[in-house]
Amino acid sequence: MRIYNTLTRRKEDFIPLEEGKVKMYACGITVSGEAHVGHGYQALIYDVMRKYLEKCGYNVTYARNYTDVDDKIIARSKETGIPADIYAAEMIKKIDKVMAEFEVDDPTLWLKATENIDNIITFITRLIESGHAYAAPNGDVYFSVASFKRYGCLSNRSVEDMLDGVRVENDENKREPADFALWKAAKEGEICWSSPWGKGRPGWHIECSVMNYKAFGEQIDIHGGGRDLIFPHHENEIAQTESLTGKQFAKFWTHTGIIKVNGQKMSTVAYTHLTLPTKRIV
Ligand SMILES: [Zn+2]
Repeated sequence: MRIYNTLTRRKEDFIPLEEGKVKMYACGITVSGEAHVGHGYQALIYDVMRKYLEKCGYNVTYARNYTDVDDKIIARSKETGIPADIYAAEMIKKIDKVMAEFEVDDPTLWLKATENIDNIITFITRLIESGHAYAAPNGDVYFSVASFKRYGCLSNRSVEDMLDGVRVENDENKREPADFALWKAAKEGEICWSSPWGKGRPGWHIECSVMNYKAFGEQIDIHGGGRDLIFPHHENEIAQTESLTGKQFAKFWTHTGIIKVNGQKMSTVAYTHLTLPTKRIV
């Protein structure tokens, strides 16, 4: 079997880390709104991939996450007056129902950011201790991109290219513009957890590194997600994990295409929910 690896930009023979077993992780949904067909498409592809690997005789452990705390969820919580944790839990129920309509099966492991706060704090602490991250005076913690020499290996871009055309927040808390948040200090009234850096919540990228580490250890066979996650999300996952382990995080980085509506990425279109026209889409 050959799989296209975004990391090397070619198809490669699939040889698992451990004979007969596959450790596979796909980035799931940020539950700020209801599921749309783009979510269904990505989930379906990794479900099919998992089932194909099983059919080939592999024992597959497939993990997927729900990002159940982030800026958008907090914004929805403010708009609706529903506490962020309750809003996220309700949305997960709705999304699960839509996925069932798509006939997407549950992964082996469901992971959630809010159930891993202690693990996230431990991971960030280790990154600070090893010189890869720093706490800012305002209580944010940032990853130091300059501390990871291979930064850009997945998206194949230099830090200068990455910053070009991207809106860089003029944030005096960061040492360098490319540095990204591992922990965000809570603003008044926001959902938060206690940490060595004050009350706050995890950044988006760190949860996937931490949950992979918890579920699988230092290395996995296949990491997946939509193509829009290559940069910055997956690039940042590599930086966080490999800075700590010194090992290649995922052997294969795989990405699905993006469903577009009128030339725009599905998630940026004003759809919140699509009624499925037919039961089966494959
Ligand atoms: Zn992820």
